[in-house]
Amino acid sequence: SKMVYYFGKTKTEGKGVGKDLLGGKGLNLAEMTSIGLPVPPGITITTQVCADYYKGGKKLPKGLMDEVHEGISTLEKELKKTFGDNKNPLLVSVRSGAAVSMPGMMNTILNLGLNDESVVGLANATNNERFAYDAYRRLIDMFGDVVMEVDRDHFEHAFTEIKKKYNANLDNEVPAAGLIELCNEYKAIYQKYTGEAFPQDPMKQLELAVEAVFKSWNTTRAVRYREVEGIRGLLGTAVNVQSMAYGNMGQDSGTGVAFTRNPSTGENKFYGEFLIDAQGEDVVAGIRTPQPVAEMSKWNRAVYKQLLEIKDTLEAHYKDVQDIEFTIEKGELFMLQTRNGKRTGAAAVKIACDMVKEGLIDEQTALLRIPANDLTQLLLPSFTTASKSKANVLTRGLPASPGAAVGVLAFTAEEAVERSHAGEKVILCRKETSPEDIDGMHSAVGILTSTGGMTSHAAVVARGWGRCCVAGAGEIEIDEKTRKIKVAGKTFKHTDTISIDGSTGEVMEGAVETSEPKLSGDFAKVMKWADEYRTLGVRTNADTPADSQRARDFGAEGIGLCRTEHMFFEEDRIIIMREMILAESEADRRAALAKLLPFQREDFVGIFTAMKNLPVTVRLLDPPLHEFLPHEAKSQKEIADILGITAAKVKSRVSQLHESNPMLGHRGCRLSVTYPEILEMQVTAIVEAAIECKKKRINAMPEIMIPLVGTAAELQLLRAKAEETIEKVKSEASYNGELDILIGTMIEIPRAALTANEVAEYAEFFSFGTNDLTQMTFGYSRDDVNTFLPDYTRLEILPADPFQTLDATGVGQLVEMGVVKGRKTRKDLKCGICGEHGGDPASIDFCHNVGLNYVSCSPFRVPIARLAAAQAAI
Ligand code: PEP
Ligand code: MG
Repeated sequence: SKMVYYFGKTKTEGKGVGKDLLGGKGLNLAEMTSIGLPVPPGITITTQVCADYYKGGKKLPKGLMDEVHEGISTLEKELKKTFGDNKNPLLVSVRSGAAVSMPGMMNTILNLGLNDESVVGLANATNNERFAYDAYRRLIDMFGDVVMEVDRDHFEHAFTEIKKKYNANLDNEVPAAGLIELCNEYKAIYQKYTGEAFPQDPMKQLELAVEAVFKSWNTTRAVRYREVEGIRGLLGTAVNVQSMAYGNMGQDSGTGVAFTRNPSTGENKFYGEFLIDAQGEDVVAGIRTPQPVAEMSKWNRAVYKQLLEIKDTLEAHYKDVQDIEFTIEKGELFMLQTRNGKRTGAAAVKIACDMVKEGLIDEQTALLRIPANDLTQLLLPSFTTASKSKANVLTRGLPASPGAAVGVLAFTAEEAVERSHAGEKVILCRKETSPEDIDGMHSAVGILTSTGGMTSHAAVVARGWGRCCVAGAGEIEIDEKTRKIKVAGKTFKHTDTISIDGSTGEVMEGAVETSEPKLSGDFAKVMKWADEYRTLGVRTNADTPADSQRARDFGAEGIGLCRTEHMFFEEDRIIIMREMILAESEADRRAALAKLLPFQREDFVGIFTAMKNLPVTVRLLDPPLHEFLPHEAKSQKEIADILGITAAKVKSRVSQLHESNPMLGHRGCRLSVTYPEILEMQVTAIVEAAIECKKKRINAMPEIMIPLVGTAAELQLLRAKAEETIEKVKSEASYNGELDILIGTMIEIPRAALTANEVAEYAEFFSFGTNDLTQMTFGYSRDDVNTFLPDYTRLEILPADPFQTLDATGVGQLVEMGVVKGRKTRKDLKCGICGEHGGDPASIDFCHNVGLNYVSCSPFRVPIARLAAAQAAI
């Protein structure tokens, strides 16, 4: 099959050939050529050739160089120049270009085709000796570096010496004689470090360069980049061989890079830089300071005007922001590259809205253009790009909960509470967190843990609050006793400041500067469009009135999961909770529960009020009871004293409650089976709170959710108990008004999904608890998965962290089966998801496709879920 595609005036073969084969750069060169833009002609060698190169044991496939030769002949005819000619030589650039842009790959080689003879030809043809030898020295340098791996420092060093010798401050001040001398030295350096002379045959140069591009596809850098970015399934890189346009021909020449709009703010203003008398990499290399493109009109009005026209043509053609490279050769403009410009979340929102206004794209396209996850950047404070670029990154953990936090180190929850009360901003630094740390986590500006994964306690809780969290930063050694951490060979004590980036997982030294978010009008507009197109409902996981309100402000249409256990960890309640757990008889237990009831009722009144007219799914107590008891002797003694029992009794109850595998132990609905009085108290609190609200004309819409059901019989039993309690409360309150409380269950045990038709007999709704469902389907502990998960994704055993993105193939089958089987029994069964996946765009797409009614996620992810739901529906 065809290996080489030509683009130029003679013909443009690549038009309509996919990005897969031509790479992004190759395809866009062909497209720009075909819409009449001034692109220096050239050829693209396909990505398939790269794949064949590796298949064939790193050999260029047979016939390739013949096809390349043919392409070069066409080029020669079109440009009336000859490759390697000693009069008017054709020179080319060689660049890599995969289907996805990949900074890990090969640098560009410019001026290929120069040798000792053609350099003279170039000098004569252009009447510019300085220019010709400047081009030659660049070629030897780049070719030596990129193709033969000669250390650039050697060239750099020689150049510095020449500059000294000729009293030149800047590169372009070295005269022709100096550059001729430099070329000779470069060739000597090349020979010394490669053991060969610099190749004089242009076709040989080209062949070696093409091979070097293919090799760069599999360098550690490139492979690592694909790993990190999750880029898979590409054939390889294409090679673009393009005739040269010279930006270094003097003061009437130059080169630049630009974005058609500002990529960090989205402002519709041409944005970029150019450098006079320079070639390609000089702009980015920082050798001389480039000028803003806006100043180009002072230098060459006509070219600037043409560039602005091209900018508009490109946007009209691609209907998106373009990131371009261009060169001006003696006042003539050439386009070298275009691609869709990368942008920040804020820019993405503004650009999408502006382009709709300008009539470039429609609302659906605008919605699809905004990466849903990038909205996070608009909702939370973030580090400024400038300060971030200067920051010293100590290590990297998991980006568990986005945001930017700067603070001093606190090592225990109490310390975090005390010091933040005293006005300090603290980062709570723990090996891992437990429900006992809640207060400390809440008062900290950020949370940093050295173990635990994306659904570890710290991560889940932090995301729920929109609190910045970096989890599982395994390289950090934490010494709680001496209040020090050790990382990257440095030690930090409790008074030292660090910065953590919850969006990237970076842990940085010192105070890195942050900026506050602004929710602009465009953001609201995008949300409005999203709501018009989505069919999935979006609820939130919240368990306080403040979180409920915040989520509502972000557009939540109810609560999909209110975890009641969080309500028991507050200081004045935990002791009663412990009294209940330590009770030895049902009567004592009921007495303690009676004390908890008013607290619980008060919480619900607050939440129902914040969520008035919207459904609130309250989950009954879920975690194993031992989580509420302290494990250290000192704390056990304190509790014994308060409750007036012996420390030995506390200790014995703790060991009695100990479980080898607590996630599979006495938790969820199993607690209510053993201790129905817990369920009774919670249901009573829910119903009483609802009645109290109704009496105040606040429309409370509670739903009762029974967790961790595995068999229909469990739900049958507990549903009956709940219904009984509802009726009892109603009659005790002599309430005759309308109060429709749905009773449903979580589907988080595989067996519940498998027998969903039976379970649905007793459930009016299902909420898929995909955290536990993933844990139990894979058999991976959600709190310990980070010990091996990095290996699993690196070796591509798993495509992604299944606790972050729903495993559609496996766990997804159970979800789908649950929906289908459940609705066979109960046609109008409401189905939702409340695991962490409910806020993940890819998982939301899945949820849309299997016909869920809603997703539920932490308050800060609500806007993301609204957008992702719209994208799934479009
Ligand atoms: C779940 O298991 O998905 C769930 C939402 O419950 P939790 O995370 O509280 O176990
Ligand atoms: Mg669960």
